[in-house]
Amino acid sequence: MYPYVSFFGKPYSSYGVFAIIGLAAAVLYSFIVHKITKDKKDFFDRVIYIVYCGAAGGICAAILYQLTNIKGWIKALPFLFSDFDKFRSYLSFGIVFYGGMFGIFIGFMIYSRFFKEDTREWLRTSVPGVPLFHAFGRMGCAVGGCCYGIPKLSSGSYNYETGLFDLDGGPFVHGACIYNARIGHYCIPIQLIESCGLILIVIILILYLRFGKDKKAYYRPMGLYFVMYGVLRFITEFWRGDLIRGIWGPFSTSQYISMIVIPIGIYCLVCPTEKSIFEKWYNGALYKKDKETDKDIYKEKDK
Ligand SMILES: [Zn+2]
Repeated sequence: MYPYVSFFGKPYSSYGVFAIIGLAAAVLYSFIVHKITKDKKDFFDRVIYIVYCGAAGGICAAILYQLTNIKGWIKALPFLFSDFDKFRSYLSFGIVFYGGMFGIFIGFMIYSRFFKEDTREWLRTSVPGVPLFHAFGRMGCAVGGCCYGIPKLSSGSYNYETGLFDLDGGPFVHGACIYNARIGHYCIPIQLIESCGLILIVIILILYLRFGKDKKAYYRPMGLYFVMYGVLRFITEFWRGDLIRGIWGPFSTSQYISMIVIPIGIYCLVCPTEKSIFEKWYNGALYKKDKETDKDIYKEKDK
């Protein structure tokens, strides 16, 4: 576990480094798809589209994290004006992946509305890029020591200088568990298991895009992804050890969200494109009702 890596003498969060590698992999994937599908649009436009989706995803992931920390906010708010340090101490900052997943779709809607462009084909073909990025993110979790699995035996001594636990010469891997210096325990490597599951999802999605018959089913790859990731996440959550993230009854917050994501995915898989609620939202972004004829007319690009 290396929470920080140093480049040119400066420390950088290793999670951040993996996130950047993941983003680069997703952009490279998009570039290959762009070439294979002989997309007439400029690749640079597609990169802007990825930036929009990524930014909306990041914002929503951060908002959802705060919503899962609602208890912290309730404790913190009374100190907002009286004791700012105390107010701050109840709060933490982070991201929840599911927020990002919904945020990406919001980014797609905003992009289409703002640039008045038909990007449904991009939405269809770009889906594997999301779990590809996420697979690298989870490797970053494994290296950085967050999102860890159930802790097994404890070992090591606390190092006050680094704030981490030193392994004192012990083995890094014990049985199937990996040492986590943040908590001083050997943990089930659930991040790497999820990462493997995500790579499998990427492969299945690419095969589906390659051999699937209906190229106009714009929302079906997204549906397939939602179902597969919802199931994967629901299962892996049982082996997560960082349970401060909100447990309500028998399940964690992410498992409840999985229970919402899976039916949405099934809906995207079975509902014909023209009847899909996503298509209706989407058309709202590109078309408007003509008052005189009551017909849908294409919104002209602002010149
Ligand atoms: Zn993590």
